[in-house]
Amino acid sequence: MSVIYARVALIGLGLIAGSMAHAMRRAGLAGEIVGTARSSETRKIAGEIGLCDRVVDTAAEAVRDADLVVLAVPVGVMGAVAAEIAPHLAPGATLTDVGSVKQDVIAQVGPHLTDGIHFIPGHPLAGTEHSGPRSGFAQLFDNRYVLLTPPAGTDPSATAKLRALWEGCGANVEEMDPDHHDLVLAVTSHTPHLIAYTMVGVADDLRRVTDSEVIKYSAAGFRDFTRIAASDPTMWRDVFLSNKEATLEILGRFTEELFALQRAIRTGDGDHLHAYFTRTRAIRRGIIEAGQDTDAPDFGRIGQRKEGPAE
Ligand code: NAP
Repeated sequence: MSVIYARVALIGLGLIAGSMAHAMRRAGLAGEIVGTARSSETRKIAGEIGLCDRVVDTAAEAVRDADLVVLAVPVGVMGAVAAEIAPHLAPGATLTDVGSVKQDVIAQVGPHLTDGIHFIPGHPLAGTEHSGPRSGFAQLFDNRYVLLTPPAGTDPSATAKLRALWEGCGANVEEMDPDHHDLVLAVTSHTPHLIAYTMVGVADDLRRVTDSEVIKYSAAGFRDFTRIAASDPTMWRDVFLSNKEATLEILGRFTEELFALQRAIRTGDGDHLHAYFTRTRAIRRGIIEAGQDTDAPDFGRIGQRKEGPAE
């Protein structure tokens, strides 16, 4: 594949930016990759492992003459980073982000940008519970979806270039309205994470989670909850604060359904439980048929894969 952007600037050098760097290199999509992160420790590691062609000290320096700038920092600081880089963006550059929430990021970043910058928000639906500069890998986006939310009036050729970059990184790309994105992700990612955090918290409250028996005999359900609940606290705090409305909407529905199941258990309504579980089993089959997971038993743990849950 040929070079799509002569210079790509990665702001933040964690799981997502690191995986982008590996995936861009795999396919030769960027002439040069310049990166920066908040701490000198992360910048030092990135330099040592050769994550980027150049690691620089500030975001302002990183974006200079870049034709693609990727904001890969927690959602809560997107606005502050945008304010820092805006005066230094090259005219005609494309600015994108990988944040898990779209409406709030657009509200934070948009006001800092001048005409002539193509702002195309994005979100790769791929991730693991790991973070930091060593956690990225080239295959993270293979056959996963990336959702782009270009505002009305965005130059179609700028969107087409960004789409080509993500496709070159192995992803399937679709466009979506930001409000719809936030609702869909509240269902498929944000609320499930909150439930996992809660379940592990409940086990901890019962003071059983550290009991060797609980760990030794933990079935896949609880084990998977603990893996999801190990996700980065800063990132997930920001996701819930930023996607408040949609998450509360889905949590409300979740609570209603949970009460209905609780009642079915109490009243011995096996038909209700059976019908409910039959419906949910079909959803799992749909995900496998869509190629978004494997039907290997025990979530494919046998033969271990590096990839975690899709975000
Ligand atoms: P990560 O591994 O924790 O990396 C975050 C990076 O942002 C680090 O390099 C960090 O620098 C930098 N950073 C943090 N605060 C900053 C600040 N105030 N100013 C400048 N840089 C700052 O995170 P990630 O998983 O790659 O997530 C990055 C973005 O991708 C988030 O918006 C997240 O919502 C989104 N996302 C995550 C996933 C996932 O599953 N993890 C999936 C899709 C999208 P230091 O290391 O120096 O602190």
